[in-house]
Amino acid sequence: MERQTNYIFITGGVVSSLGKGIISASIGNLLQARGYKVTIQKFDPYINIDPGTLNPYEHGECYVTMDGMETDLDLGHYERFTGIHTTRNNSVTTGRIYKTVIDRERRGDYLGKTIQVVPHITDEIKHRMLREDTGEEHLDFVITEVGGTIGDIESAPFMEAIRQLRWQLGRRAVNVHLTYVPYLKAAEEMKTKPTQHSVKELQSMGVQPDILVLRTERHLDDAMRMKVASFCNVDLDCVILSEDMPSIYEVPVSMLHQGLDTAILRKTGMPVDGAPAMQSWQDFLDKLHSATREVCIGLVGKYDLQDAYKSIRESLTLAGIYNDAKVQLRFINSEQITRENVSDRLAGMDGIVICPGFGQRGTEGKILAAEYTRTHDIPTFGICLGMQMMVIEFARDVLGYEDANSREMDEQTPHNVIDLMEEQKTVTQKGGTMRLGAYPCELRSGSRAAEAYGESCVIERHRHRYEFNNVYKEEFEQKGMQCVGVNPQASLVEIVEVSSHRWYIGTQFHPEYVSTVLHPHPLFMSFCKACIH
Ligand code: GLN
Repeated sequence: MERQTNYIFITGGVVSSLGKGIISASIGNLLQARGYKVTIQKFDPYINIDPGTLNPYEHGECYVTMDGMETDLDLGHYERFTGIHTTRNNSVTTGRIYKTVIDRERRGDYLGKTIQVVPHITDEIKHRMLREDTGEEHLDFVITEVGGTIGDIESAPFMEAIRQLRWQLGRRAVNVHLTYVPYLKAAEEMKTKPTQHSVKELQSMGVQPDILVLRTERHLDDAMRMKVASFCNVDLDCVILSEDMPSIYEVPVSMLHQGLDTAILRKTGMPVDGAPAMQSWQDFLDKLHSATREVCIGLVGKYDLQDAYKSIRESLTLAGIYNDAKVQLRFINSEQITRENVSDRLAGMDGIVICPGFGQRGTEGKILAAEYTRTHDIPTFGICLGMQMMVIEFARDVLGYEDANSREMDEQTPHNVIDLMEEQKTVTQKGGTMRLGAYPCELRSGSRAAEAYGESCVIERHRHRYEFNNVYKEEFEQKGMQCVGVNPQASLVEIVEVSSHRWYIGTQFHPEYVSTVLHPHPLFMSFCKACIH
């Protein structure tokens, strides 16, 4: 008998930022721990084709998949919690749906028909929710998180697609609705009315939630849960609490204790055999709880927003825990760094990450930070633009090219130590046109990077247009900055390091995209270790 694929739809109500991504990732994690094959995908109701062209202030970090799709940062949670590799099929926007349908219309595929939101847009949404034509192996569960909040005009076609799929799939489709239960201080009461309204809104679209996850800052007693259950037509054991946790990594265990996974299995008619294999996760949590040391790491960047460097923050936190340390992260605005204040701004930091980014703003501050940490032997990790700034600083201060720069910042620079990649010179379109996704990188044996990885060839993900200019390679190497990671096909420099320094490494790629809870990235591990000692 062919095994069935089940579909879990995660929607949110009342307010945004409830942590739907974490709940989706936690469900994926728990089902996986029960031996099921799972994927998690995000459907976003905005018109951009992908978040690649969005300013981080709009949408936080842009996460990149192995196959080079620029996606929502929630995919980072999915990968960190489950270790699965997401692809371009896991991130869909209204823009992409419409583009597919409109391109089809222009090709004449609809044979003169009127193209409408229902059924053409909703059919395309359903097609992607079902993951038809992806060519992938059998999945037991497809978890689909829908961005935005119930009642938004723009998410209506997604809700209609979910309504139709639930009708079509019967018990193979489950809706988990996440809402917020506020605490009113003056009344000293938790309020469930917004949840009731949100569920009514959902029901008015023809979707009855199977499971409610209530985000609360305080504990909700059983009487309140009972009230929610009876007002919303949901079983009492399907009213789950998502209380504030000291760490997002506690969420799967909290969901497990409340039976969120078993509720889903019961609803879909899948077997519930014993307990899930959560030992490695629990071991990680034990490490998290018992970490004794503290390490302070500064993020030098231009976006003063938690979500802008999400995967870097998580990668550092995880690597810290595996090194028995709680990582304190401090944002240091590179736009405000001057030669006079750099030692003050960086004071007390055990290590510095020079963050990725685009454009001129804040780059001189990054260069000053790189100079300070190099000359004061403070562990430093430069990522993408951060690596490029390390290279420019070295060219200015050690090679003596005072005007060295990247062609991105100064098109006329006579010492273009960072230059536009050859294949980028003819590119005019903005979205999805960078060097994106996974490429191999060969490591020089004996280098600190190779030692950290314990391997000679690695695969890492990229998102950039500019590169190290190989014309200068020999000069850099002679003066002490080694190009220890190189792409074997294109000879692009992927890693530089100053080996005489305690820890001074820059990567053209983004190691933060592949660091997971159970497999923290070797470079972050090695960097954290250097920061601690
Ligand atoms: N702006 C730089 C480039 O395009 C670096 C990009 C990044 O940091 N992701 O090469």
